[in-house]
Amino acid sequence: MKLLVANWKMNLTVHQTLDWCQNYLELFKEIDHKLIICPSYPALTAVSQLIKDTDIALCGQSCSEHRNGSYTGQVDAQSLAQVGCSYVLVGHSEERNAFNLTNEQVAQKALRVLEAGMIPIICIGEPETVYQAGKTQEYLEEQLFDIKRAFNGAPAYIAYEPIWAIGTSKIPTNEELIKIVNNLKLFIQGCAFLYGGSVNAETITQLNQIKDFCGYLVGNASLDGHELKKMMELP
Ligand code: PEP
Repeated sequence: MKLLVANWKMNLTVHQTLDWCQNYLELFKEIDHKLIICPSYPALTAVSQLIKDTDIALCGQSCSEHRNGSYTGQVDAQSLAQVGCSYVLVGHSEERNAFNLTNEQVAQKALRVLEAGMIPIICIGEPETVYQAGKTQEYLEEQLFDIKRAFNGAPAYIAYEPIWAIGTSKIPTNEELIKIVNNLKLFIQGCAFLYGGSVNAETITQLNQIKDFCGYLVGNASLDGHELKKMMELP
């Protein structure tokens, strides 16, 4: 049973998110996949009510590295737990890039998520120049260094998302992915691994041949509930 994490980013307004739920939630009432959805912050409370009788779980798209205080515009992990989140994405490449996040800040965010009783989904991934230079493994290990030091076997998902594969229709080969995930498993123990980057109903069959990923982080394709459901049904 693979896990699908639907990252809606800032693609849906609150009203559009509620429309999504009205149009598609019924499709996911009886599924043998695990589904986690990541609406924008202002939609979390309402969505949490709508999914309360389903197996769907709620995930924040980020949180502050701080517990609380004078941090205008930031959202603390505890509040995300209070509005119904069980998971939080941390260190998505779009966030790392927009806010120049350091790996240490990402590790702090992940710790705040754990402290608040939720599970972090920690995103890592290399830019195309690093991939072309054959330095992916070193880059990923550097991104995970502080996490490895601070975590001590705490539960977490690591989502491997090559930046050049996000929203581009390009994906690494299965051989490349198997090598990367196996090296990551040796580098950091106790985590489960997801793949993200152009996962959709066309690419998922090839990716499903890889047994080492327990699921996928899905951006664009998750905006269409029918495509998301189809991805669960494909072998
Ligand atoms: C993402 O941004 O996390 C992502 C995986 O996007 P997409 O599926 O659109 O490539």
